[in-house]
Amino acid sequence: MARVLFMNGGSEGHINPTIGVVQELISRGEEVVYVCIEAFRERIEKTGATVRTFDDQQFIKAFISGGRNYMLERINGLLLTTDIVIPSVLEQIKDEQFDYIIHDAMFGCGRLLAQLLQLPAINSCTSFAQSRESIEQELEQFYTNVSSDIVQAIYEQFHILTRMVKEKYDVDIHSPYEVWCNPAPLSIVYTTREFQPNGESFDQTYKFVGPSISTRLSSESNTYTENQAEKPIYISLGTVFNRSIDFYKLCIEALGNTEHTIIMSIGNNVRLSDLGEIPTNFTVKPYVPQTELLPNTKLFITHGGMNSVHEALYYGIPLIVIPQSADQPIIAEQVESIGAGLTLQMQTLQANQLRDAVDQVLSNTSFLTAVAKIRDSFQESGGYRQAVDEIMAFKRKYGIK
Ligand code: UDP
Repeated sequence: MARVLFMNGGSEGHINPTIGVVQELISRGEEVVYVCIEAFRERIEKTGATVRTFDDQQFIKAFISGGRNYMLERINGLLLTTDIVIPSVLEQIKDEQFDYIIHDAMFGCGRLLAQLLQLPAINSCTSFAQSRESIEQELEQFYTNVSSDIVQAIYEQFHILTRMVKEKYDVDIHSPYEVWCNPAPLSIVYTTREFQPNGESFDQTYKFVGPSISTRLSSESNTYTENQAEKPIYISLGTVFNRSIDFYKLCIEALGNTEHTIIMSIGNNVRLSDLGEIPTNFTVKPYVPQTELLPNTKLFITHGGMNSVHEALYYGIPLIVIPQSADQPIIAEQVESIGAGLTLQMQTLQANQLRDAVDQVLSNTSFLTAVAKIRDSFQESGGYRQAVDEIMAFKRKYGIK
């Protein structure tokens, strides 16, 4: 039995795929100490892991203070979280020994902690994997297309922050890529190599284990799709980019008082009263148990978050993807390219367009055929069990008992 330190941040999308992994690790005899924000304590403790937390408000404040406009600003934001995460974690684990670390690919300062604690490291990648070259290309474009004053100021900040990290924690940072992707000797990616853009270009240190879907162990139960004569359409913009009152109103305009039953998750930042009158065929909630509900739906209208798309395809549900930000446009492209759904643009979206897209996806059987194919490949890929097989092989390679 080994002791593993699991470092994560504070968003559903980065936490959910790790739940099955942690449960499986524990069932195979590992002892897991999981670091995240307080909001996920209950969910993680139910896996049997010990939970340690850092201050979520300070964490978010630090991350956002790096700036939101360019990737290098968000990288600076991640560096600004080091002072919130690292001292707190070091204090909480000061008398403990670990055999290896698993860390999120973005949040939780995993690579830095791995070096500081001199632990063999595994990267837990809840979005598509990103290569060093693709990050360098994106930064190249930033240097070329943005005014040099802005670039210089942001770059200067990056240098100040990396110097600060060196002085305080004695760890070298060689590139923005290291901060953004937290590369490690083993990367677990929760998709298949076939669905990953340029999947064949990633070497064997990347293990594409497929969607990691497990029961969430949350107190939410699914009463939404039970006893429904007709399968509902499910709508959600996920848990981060979900403040779009206009979008929810547009869904009501497009699909209110139709023959469809609609379940719409609007998050905690929009009030039901902001949406006006709710038609009787709509059920609107701040949060629903998505993985339990999805198998009994006929269509998912989604922002295209990595988890949402994988969960839907895992259960063979076709998609209408309306990407908001981050990696979502790339995920939407992948969905369209395999024929598993349609993409619409948020900025120009009209109610009749959404209605037409719904009719098209529901009436054209080619979507269901494509979705069935990817469903089978996702279900065969192994998910969290395969992830733990890879972790066990990694342990053997590093001589960890
Ligand atoms: N989710 C949920 N209920 C909701 C909304 C979201 O269970 O009402 C879960 C969903 O199953 C997924 C995660 O929250 O696992 C959202 O992750 P995703 O990567 O799709 O989007 P993000 O929230 O990170 O933008």
